[in-house]
Amino acid sequence: MTDDPDSPAGDALGGEPSGPAAADWAAAVDAVRRLTPDARVLLICHVNPDGDALGSMLGFGLGLRTLGLRGVQATFPGPPEVPEPFRGLPGLDLLVPAAEAYPDPDLVLCFDAASESRLGELVDRLAVTAPTVVLDHHASHTGFGDIHLVDPRAAATSVVAEELLTRLDVPLDAAIAECLYVALATDTGSFRFDATTPEVHRMAARLLATGIRPGEISRRIFDTRPFGAVRLYGDVLARTRLEPAAAGGHGFVWTYATLADLARHDQRPYVLEPLIDSVRCTAEADVSGVLKQIAEDGWAVSLRSKGAVDVSRVAVALGGGGHRFAAGFTGRGTAQDVVARIRAELDTALIRTVDRD
Ligand code: MN
Repeated sequence: MTDDPDSPAGDALGGEPSGPAAADWAAAVDAVRRLTPDARVLLICHVNPDGDALGSMLGFGLGLRTLGLRGVQATFPGPPEVPEPFRGLPGLDLLVPAAEAYPDPDLVLCFDAASESRLGELVDRLAVTAPTVVLDHHASHTGFGDIHLVDPRAAATSVVAEELLTRLDVPLDAAIAECLYVALATDTGSFRFDATTPEVHRMAARLLATGIRPGEISRRIFDTRPFGAVRLYGDVLARTRLEPAAAGGHGFVWTYATLADLARHDQRPYVLEPLIDSVRCTAEADVSGVLKQIAEDGWAVSLRSKGAVDVSRVAVALGGGGHRFAAGFTGRGTAQDVVARIRAELDTALIRTVDRD
């Protein structure tokens, strides 16, 4: 469910990333500790929130409540609609629509947003006099905010959130743990991606020790979709194309979903997120792609690679971003136009990848 610009840094990192500075941890702890019980605390996560954005924000917000803070709000830009799979998360009562969020909070904490552009209309909250604490794990973080808890080594923003809660002496309860677990499971692809380090499993163990039920949570978050979505997957997967000669013979497999597909099955765009996982399992292709129509001539494109091609090079060349194994961009024109551009960039990216290695 991780959308491309938000996928974790993972294996894409070239250098040796380091975690937050001791001074930033201390400043963040101090910023929370100095709050009075009625302080207006505003938590913000990125637009179109995924499991890590919502889970880390709500889990941390519940933790702040256990410290006796009564004025905690959580919000995200755009329509105040929580994607269906997350409507059972604890802490949803912290959420307010962006339009009702404190205009002048006493403290702002920002979750899982790599850039200010991901904060939409809430970006003005960064300009208030209150300090802004940024919790994130994107290597590409732009450095916005005042106190930076940005750890590119972390598998999820919830890893950073858990550490800050620990430093604030907030014990994990089942509600906090469920939020942080959903975040961790989402960003590690249910503990399948290479970001799944021993520390990820140690954190999962701490969360499970609170008594939360991983089977039930996973079923709700990952394995429950409306019947119309299942029918929609049939339509979209039936038109999947395999191009074995593309990407220098490494192969490219792709499909697309239109707004008409969504309308015909009465579905919301979130149901399209798992499609890339069905397409990318194709053995005969290194590179996979799903084009999701977002406007008459606009497509949100998700790309995946098994390693022969660095798909971030394709995405960056086409105006997007991401990592070697997962990237994305927004394309204009017909689906065929966009696929033709990907095809052309795949050959270029392949050459560059071989050069680099
Ligand atoms: Mn994340």
